[in-house]
Amino acid sequence: MIDTMLDRRTFLRYAGIAAGAAAWPAISRAASDTERPPNIVLIFADDLGYGDLGCYGHPLIRTPHLDKMARDGVRLTSFYVGAPVCSPSRASLLTGRYPVRCGMPGNTGPGSDRHLPESEITIADMLKARGYRTMAVGKWHLGHQRPELLPTGRGFDSWYGLPYSNDMRKPWVQTDEPLQLYRDTEPIEHPVNQDTLTERYTDEAVKFIEASDDAPFFLYLAHSMPHLPVRTSERFRGASDGDLYGDVIETIDWSVGRIRRTLEEKGIADNTLVIFTSDNGPWLDLPERMLHEGVERWHGGSPGPLRGAKGTTYEGGFRVPMIACWPGHIPPDTRNAHVATTMDVLPTLAALSGATFPGDRTLDGCDILPLLQGKTESPHEYFYYFRGDHLQAVRHGDWKLRRETPNAEVELFHLGRDPRELYNVAGAHPEVVQHLADRMRDFAREVRRP
Ligand code: MG
Repeated sequence: MIDTMLDRRTFLRYAGIAAGAAAWPAISRAASDTERPPNIVLIFADDLGYGDLGCYGHPLIRTPHLDKMARDGVRLTSFYVGAPVCSPSRASLLTGRYPVRCGMPGNTGPGSDRHLPESEITIADMLKARGYRTMAVGKWHLGHQRPELLPTGRGFDSWYGLPYSNDMRKPWVQTDEPLQLYRDTEPIEHPVNQDTLTERYTDEAVKFIEASDDAPFFLYLAHSMPHLPVRTSERFRGASDGDLYGDVIETIDWSVGRIRRTLEEKGIADNTLVIFTSDNGPWLDLPERMLHEGVERWHGGSPGPLRGAKGTTYEGGFRVPMIACWPGHIPPDTRNAHVATTMDVLPTLAALSGATFPGDRTLDGCDILPLLQGKTESPHEYFYYFRGDHLQAVRHGDWKLRRETPNAEVELFHLGRDPRELYNVAGAHPEVVQHLADRMRDFAREVRRP
């Protein structure tokens, strides 16, 4: 954890963002003065489960491009999100902090006034201040009520995408607010043709990469899929052996292939860190409200061998695929089971870009480049599982203590011997239960501190 001293306004003023400049004076690594920092492509799927990719064991869905990316880089098998639903998970990723810490413990959407507090500093704020070109493509879901809350107000030079989830319109959600596609701060399409969204997002991402010049760039590609309703274009429909859900995953895989090919053709693949992950586990046990306009019960994805799904604090809600590829810097074809989280992305990129992260706040993530390189173990002694603002579980090594409500049964699992969380061994290890219960109590108090 890093304690910092400046607030966001001060950070942006020093960084020169408000004045239109793009230089951040404090640099944490001397090498960054002379070496050009890498480009960053961060691909974030929506509701894609731990078991949805070929390289994570799916028996039917083919993901040759992601499998190739895993062979070219590292595949993490204990990678966690900050929350098991969309908005707080995105808030964690972009701020490096637990959702309760960064003021976004729950979802936003039409009719909601909830948004990522303007005091929060995003990865895009940080990298833009280091001279990066920045673009967001895809789903935002961190506030849409005023133009300043959209990506272009949060450190991105440009944005093309949806302000929140693709189901947030009638008949799935009872709202009169239209779901619209945006470019920057302007709505440009209504109703949104969701069949072609993944391909159009990819076109925008490719255009942004192709326009790269001497400045490094940060591309945040947050797919709207495979969040329900799953949709893809004619040419992908029926192409997989995994029904429409499989077609949608294979479209995302195609997109990854096209982006990596663009980097190669541009001659910048060796200087670009590409990360692929997801915001939370698969949406199983759909509510009745979702079963309209072709949405079927089996359109959720797969948690693979894990218990639970989106919205739960079992592993299936929190553990997602994570593949990182940076030729020459991350060893190829490696697999890593150490605990890491989406909150580690910001500190990692801070170190890579030479940014010193300011602010009067605590970061919960750590620089995990050494872990991705296989040089170190997990920097996290404890990982905490929040549902909303309620802390439900903690992981420490292979032990996981879970208590869904204060009155619920205490569950203790050993994730090494029992990765499916089938066998509650709380009765046999009272000292472990006590230790982890104390840690949960202390951490819940710490993050609620004003
Ligand atoms: Mg999601």
